[in-house]
Amino acid sequence: MNYWNPYLETLDRQELNKIELLYFRNIFSYAKSHSLLYRDKLEGIDPEGIRSLDDIKKIPLTEKEEMRKYQEMEPFPYGGLLGGKIGEVTTFRQTSGTTGKPIYVPETYESWQWRIEAWCHILYMAGFRPHHRVFLPFGYNVYVAFWEAHYASEKLGCELVPGGALDTKGRIHKIMEIRANAMMNTPTYGLHIAEEARNMGIDPATLGIERMLCAGEPMPAATRKRLEALFHCHVFDHIGGTEPCGWAGMCESKEGLHIIEPFFLVEILDRETLQREVEEGEIGVAVVTPLGRRSFPLIRFNTKDLVRKGTDSCPCGRTSLKIEEVMGRIDDLRKIRGVLFSPKTVEEIVRKEFQEVEEFEIVVERRGLMDVIMLRAEVDPALPLDKIEPVRERLKESLKIGTNLSFIVIIEPPGSLPRYQLKAKRFKDMREGGKND
Ligand SMILES: [Zn+2]
Repeated sequence: MNYWNPYLETLDRQELNKIELLYFRNIFSYAKSHSLLYRDKLEGIDPEGIRSLDDIKKIPLTEKEEMRKYQEMEPFPYGGLLGGKIGEVTTFRQTSGTTGKPIYVPETYESWQWRIEAWCHILYMAGFRPHHRVFLPFGYNVYVAFWEAHYASEKLGCELVPGGALDTKGRIHKIMEIRANAMMNTPTYGLHIAEEARNMGIDPATLGIERMLCAGEPMPAATRKRLEALFHCHVFDHIGGTEPCGWAGMCESKEGLHIIEPFFLVEILDRETLQREVEEGEIGVAVVTPLGRRSFPLIRFNTKDLVRKGTDSCPCGRTSLKIEEVMGRIDDLRKIRGVLFSPKTVEEIVRKEFQEVEEFEIVVERRGLMDVIMLRAEVDPALPLDKIEPVRERLKESLKIGTNLSFIVIIEPPGSLPRYQLKAKRFKDMREGGKND
């Protein structure tokens, strides 16, 4: 069997649109009558007037800032974001709060099961099956990572090994001890495990990992291929978040990410106007409506994730629309000396062309009237001293070609840059008004 849900995953476009419109109208009406945020926000908009997917474009987007305001109301701690009664909530989750006060997310038993079912699509698509012994190298917390992964693996019939409360060395030993053959982690932590294994004298390819599903950060193709080469395994990507849930995943053909339709209505909008739906191949902002989640209804949630729109045809036979590539957060885009800059471009260059670079960090500063951009890089300690300067020169050159910016490249001593387990913070904008999260 190739599909988790053969019926839904192969529906034709017309059928998918019909179901999505019906689900949208349902969640719209529910949100309007059960959440204070949407009671106010959707006032005067009649669900009967939503007759096509085009009509949806007239409904205002939901922004995180307004959600924070409604969260201050009663009942504590979810306030006007809660869809339903406080007594029905069975699990508390929250966002990390790196860009402001955290959003508290209520899940009822029903909404959580809906979320897990959507996640099963992501896992199954990435080839996870009951014979996989899945190691989760994280301690779980109030954040949604990696609870969905945990429950969806269980539902799929995989054998799950929670790997919290261990350091990286301890996790590597555990993987070997119990012969885990699959893993879920951030790309950054996958690279860190490989580095640590090599420090222990273990080739990461001998750990026996066959499948890896990555989460938490935009993963350039070069990083994915590097992980595949290090572990000799298949690596898949997905995209999601605490508020919108996991909404797209990569299939075995590894050509972009399938939107999990009809669980989610995803619009990819022009980033300037946030109105026009972009064309195939264009980059836009993902706006997501989870179509069956009632505890925390979201209508047209602005994820601020930049993605490149793809097609709805795929060698795997799934008919859902794909996104070709996840570009990163719109908040990470910066103007530096008049040039639009995305940190993901640097990661793509470093991971693709510089196998000898183990870790890096981008720092932007203002010196006088000038913006200065620096790359601090750590190279493989085994690299002979006379090879370091040529690497530095090549980095400068490739970054100039790839970003149109002249970088100051500094080679740092091994182990001097921070290592990350969840989301890496490799981009630091120290200019006044520049964001640093
Ligand atoms: Zn596919």
